[in-house]
Amino acid sequence: MYKCARCQEPILTSLNTVGIQCKKCGSKVFYKERPNVKKIVRAR
Ligand SMILES: [Zn+2]
Repeated sequence: MYKCARCQEPILTSLNTVGIQCKKCGSKVFYKERPNVKKIVRAR
């Protein structure tokens, strides 16, 4: 899953396609969403 770096809109189109843009803001900058980037909060 990739997300737009500007507006965090999920990118459904494959990044293998050349010239894709964010449908929402037209940005061409994306980042790959990784589970380990999410903030982990421990209750204990
Ligand atoms: Zn966007």
